[in-house]
Amino acid sequence: THRHQVVIIGGGTAGITVAASLKRRRPGLDIAIVEPSERHYYQPAFTLVGGGAYALDKTRRATRDVLPRGVTLIKAAVTAFDPDNNRVELDSGESLGYASLVVAPGIKLDWGRVEGLEATLGKNGVCSNYSPETVEYTARCLNEFTGGNAIFTQPAPPLKCAGAPQKIAYLAADHVRRNGLADKTTLKFYSGGGALFSVPDFVPPLERVAQRHGVEVILSHDLVAVDGENKLATFEAKSAEGEVVRIEQPFDLLHVTPYQCAPDVVAQSPLADAGGWVEVDKATTQHLRYPNVFSLGDASSLPTSKTAAAVRKQAPVTVQNLLAQLDDKAPTAEYDGYTSCPLVTDYGRVMIAEFIYGGVVAPTLPLDPFKESRFYWWVKKSFLPAFYWRRMLKGCERDIAHKPRKTS
Ligand code: FAD
Repeated sequence: THRHQVVIIGGGTAGITVAASLKRRRPGLDIAIVEPSERHYYQPAFTLVGGGAYALDKTRRATRDVLPRGVTLIKAAVTAFDPDNNRVELDSGESLGYASLVVAPGIKLDWGRVEGLEATLGKNGVCSNYSPETVEYTARCLNEFTGGNAIFTQPAPPLKCAGAPQKIAYLAADHVRRNGLADKTTLKFYSGGGALFSVPDFVPPLERVAQRHGVEVILSHDLVAVDGENKLATFEAKSAEGEVVRIEQPFDLLHVTPYQCAPDVVAQSPLADAGGWVEVDKATTQHLRYPNVFSLGDASSLPTSKTAAAVRKQAPVTVQNLLAQLDDKAPTAEYDGYTSCPLVTDYGRVMIAEFIYGGVVAPTLPLDPFKESRFYWWVKKSFLPAFYWRRMLKGCERDIAHKPRKTS
């Protein structure tokens, strides 16, 4: 068993940000990151890639190239957590010991939960922005679309970036209009959830966007099957009497957001809560039963919307509290639930939803949060990616400190 002072599971948004920030604060710290993938992605730009407005290449770096200097990279996946013995097991057969553990393996995309989806994804007009393997096909489907039924789906929560399933519907609508296909096209957005967005204040402005684009919103409908060859999508909904009804919809283009859940390795471990997530304190990000374990990002139980923007505010809290814990001190830093979702509503316009725990709107950016703006399109497409690579992944905490402009 190799032992490191800090072991971080996952070299995604959260893992790299925390490692970089720890190294900045305490350069001598012995840190190892366990990450099976050779590629690191800036996933927030996948929406623009699917819309044909951003190159997939620009979202990708070699994991090695985003690794902070002095941090050990272990190319493996964790297969088991043994927090009672401060150890994790790897798929290489090795085990690793730690003084402190950070668990950030992200969320699992459960493609298999929709019957027939895996067999047809990436062909027959069935696309998804949720994976780097399938996102370019979305742009191709849009380009080749000559009119017909375009359907967009969103599963019931949990999911990462809960705005992403509707953003691509708006981009598609804008594309259809610009190409003179609006008269020959129907656009439908099916959500398994009961509302268009989790924060009530953003629902009316988003409903207006959907209406303007001619996107029909159908709530409380779950995608259960896809027949690619016959181009049929099947949804389930409950009738007023509580009966399950099945609805078949023909499609020419189907954008699917897969069901999502906690990674199996977490859900099956002693670290999990009842839902399978790493059970941490919602303010300190420290584990409720194992004080030398921390978790943030999509795999954590933090009850906020799962985004990279949330990770940006969680990471400094985790880092400060982890260092305190290593020094036998109590955690003092607190996360307020901040998260943000840039809602792309057109080619060229974005509305940015920023909020904290309890769905309280908490803008840090200067413009009206309920209005679409061209400035925020620039923020989304140019500023945020540069900020991510150059500041956030480098652990520049001064830039990522939370300064709410006002709370309403
Ligand atoms: P990830 O960044 O996904 O990293 C998890 C890492 O863990 C991966 O590298 C993975 O290989 C690794 N891993 C998995 N299993 C194991 C294992 N067993 N052992 C070791 N390592 C493992 N966020 C925003 O802020 N704004 C947006 O506009 C936005 N839009 C999005 C649009 C789409 C289409 C998608 C897919 C996501 C979007 N997000 C957005 C969400 C954002 O990308 C995630 O919330 C963020 O990446 C979470 O960081 P994470 O570190 O928890 O997970």
